[in-house]
Amino acid sequence: MDYKNITVAGSGVLGSQIAFQIAFKGFNVNVYDINDEVLDRAKERMTKLKQRYQEDLGATQEEVDAAYKRISFFSDLAEATADADLIIEAIPEVVQIKSNFYKELAKIAPEKTIFASNSSTLLPSQFAEATGRPQKFLNLHFANEIWKNNTAEIMKHPGTDDKVFEEVIAFAKAIGMVALPLQKEQPGYILNSLLVPLLDAAQMLLLKEVADPETIDKTWMVATGAPMGPFAILDVVGITTAYNITLAKAEATGDPDYKKLADLLKTEYIDKGKLGRGTGEGFYKY
Ligand code: NAD
Repeated sequence: MDYKNITVAGSGVLGSQIAFQIAFKGFNVNVYDINDEVLDRAKERMTKLKQRYQEDLGATQEEVDAAYKRISFFSDLAEATADADLIIEAIPEVVQIKSNFYKELAKIAPEKTIFASNSSTLLPSQFAEATGRPQKFLNLHFANEIWKNNTAEIMKHPGTDDKVFEEVIAFAKAIGMVALPLQKEQPGYILNSLLVPLLDAAQMLLLKEVADPETIDKTWMVATGAPMGPFAILDVVGITTAYNITLAKAEATGDPDYKKLADLLKTEYIDKGKLGRGTGEGFYKY
């Protein structure tokens, strides 16, 4: 089945980007969120996105205006999903909120509708039952700044129909994504399964005073041909996020090295206002 009518549920940071990208590629999109006030904020976000598409992709004013016109806004879930071929869920990363949403959606959405979750950390099998249609449910995970960072990790759970999996892969390609299928459930998908251990290892080398960030990055870049090293990546992610993740690991594992690393990030970077690229300085100056 070729998907024609797409609904995006949740119009926050990612939902707005997903909806705009799909519309930019020529599809009609219904956007659903909990009330009109939130939807107004989504409209503002998308107006800003028009500018980013022009700056970053060289899109014309006509193209971004046409994309925006293909988007309709709804605070009524039944109206938003009345003829949907595919619903992409981008609502908060809270199990109970997502679970309740799928139970509600299961009652309302047409039988044909495929459900896909953009969740970063939750596995599709956690919600498969709540959807009432496990075979038509999977994860479709985008990256922030979808128009530039155009990965789509497509992850099935054991009950997902293979035909649905293939259709969603084709849809991801149709909206300009590099489709990255995962045949099995994996926390962190492919990207974070690779990236998190790399960033961890780099920070541990720093903590143990084996080498400075420049040398560690240079090693990675020259040896593998990568355009950025782990510390340059951490500056993009933001030191506050790195700190929060490290602190959570210190608490979960009891490993004193994580605690020491968290302290280092706080005293040497966060307390000095070096929060990463966004503030002009992190491990590097910009
Ligand atoms: P956000 O907080 O910016 O947006 C969430 C939106 O969902 C809000 O507009 C909110 O009003 C709406 N919402 C709340 N309850 C709802 C409900 N019951 N029904 C419909 N809408 C509801 O969050 P976000 O950063 O866009 O994240 C959304 C999802 O995307 C999460 O699952 C997150 O893991 C995933 N994600 C986020 C990023 C990122 O960088 N922010 C990247 C990839 C994936």
